[in-house]
Amino acid sequence: MSYNDKNIFAKILNGDAECVKVLENDFILAFMDVMPQAPGHTLVIPKYKTENLLNLDSNYFSPILEATQKIASSIKKVYSPTGVMVLQLNGAEAGQTVFHLHFHIIQRSEGLNYKFHSSEPRSFKELQKEADKIIANL
Ligand code: 5GP
Repeated sequence: MSYNDKNIFAKILNGDAECVKVLENDFILAFMDVMPQAPGHTLVIPKYKTENLLNLDSNYFSPILEATQKIASSIKKVYSPTGVMVLQLNGAEAGQTVFHLHFHIIQRSEGLNYKFHSSEPRSFKELQKEADKIIANL
């Protein structure tokens, strides 16, 4: 399958769809997942048109990992989970539903109500509250 410019993350990148931003630079955009599996669920995407990790330009490797580490550290400070999961799916068979490469950052703790993938949309107001806490601890 080739990259389709009409996917929702492409629209977010070119300003045709809204998102709640957490971090942005020339290489990446990080924003809140609209159906968080746990509070603070953040996505990091490259500003590069690729469906998956397999075709990513190597100039984006460091910026993505730096942003992911920064956000994971902030999530750890904000929510004090015992674990932080970084998840990245390649292909529908692997569970991928949006076909612009993205990394999920999700807090995990025993007893935390961890929601099913893409299940419950949250309002931008609620997401902004969580984003503000993460941004304050970056
Ligand atoms: P995937 O299944 O491809 O790994 O993950 C796609 C993620 O994108 C899901 O966690 C889903 O909740 C999230 N998502 C889907 N549509 C939107 C959207 O319009 N905005 C945001 N911020 N996240 C989305």
